[in-house]
Amino acid sequence: MKIKYAIGVDLGGTKVKLGIVTSEGRIVKKISVPTLANDGPEKSIGQIKKGIKSLLKGNKKLIQGIGIGSPGTVALKKGTVENPPNLPGWGKVHLGKIISEEFKIKTHVENDANAAAIGELIYGSGKDLTSFIMVTLGTGVGGGIIFNRKLFRGDHGGAGEIGHITIDHNGKECNCGSFGCLETYLGNNYLVEEVRHQLELNKDSIIYKLLDNNLDNLSPKVIHDASLLGDKFSQNIIANLGETLGHGLASVVNIFDIANIIIGGGVAGFGRPLFNSVKESVKSRVLTPLKPKIKVLKASLKNNAGIKGASSLVFYD
Ligand SMILES: [Zn+2]
Repeated sequence: MKIKYAIGVDLGGTKVKLGIVTSEGRIVKKISVPTLANDGPEKSIGQIKKGIKSLLKGNKKLIQGIGIGSPGTVALKKGTVENPPNLPGWGKVHLGKIISEEFKIKTHVENDANAAAIGELIYGSGKDLTSFIMVTLGTGVGGGIIFNRKLFRGDHGGAGEIGHITIDHNGKECNCGSFGCLETYLGNNYLVEEVRHQLELNKDSIIYKLLDNNLDNLSPKVIHDASLLGDKFSQNIIANLGETLGHGLASVVNIFDIANIIIGGGVAGFGRPLFNSVKESVKSRVLTPLKPKIKVLKASLKNNAGIKGASSLVFYD
């Protein structure tokens, strides 16, 4: 079988990461350019073009298409990105149309969390699954729903926003303007802030020692390290995190009758203890016939998941 190649573009608030990826999901070349988001959309689009141009040099004939994973809601028709968070001044940008006209190469644009779900479908843990729910745990909580081997996009491309399920209607205010969203418990910053708060009552936690008593450097990784060293406090944090996520996911499972859950992103590094907790939590809340069917899997696209997910859009249609 002849190997096919695509360019994957992971558009982030500070960096644009780009790579040439094979149809098996292997990165053969990778670069990154600053997004220069504060200089406005035109500058950032110029940066994207610059990155693509440099990857195409001498390789253009090999490239089957370009895939872009972008924050914000995306309308497929012109690859229109709408109000991406972290990219000030964007409003509506026909990014797909702009890039395909510039390079005369078919270009696919999709929301980054949806692209991560398609990446798992084409190259990763979802390869042999008919349907699954994908959750990405990072600064925010992203989601994507694959139903019958297709991404469920909703009417406007905004479906799958699992991070914004309300799990406490009296809860903290979320970035989205709503209250008590799942993201206000699981997003990196919220999580770190909450753990710092709880540490005040848990002075015997190993975390203090690992950080030389400087909690400013608290991160999910430190919580993970402490849990591996047997720190009960950190182990409880991870178990509670899994429980909270499971409560939100149980609603999604009940609505869609999809029993496979794939978890990716930095916080997924908590590994088995997190996944077991999610599984038990989902099982405790879904309707009885679904309980024995629940599976929680780790995402396979780890490093460069953004580039790989974006490139998979080319091999998806
Ligand atoms: Zn929200």
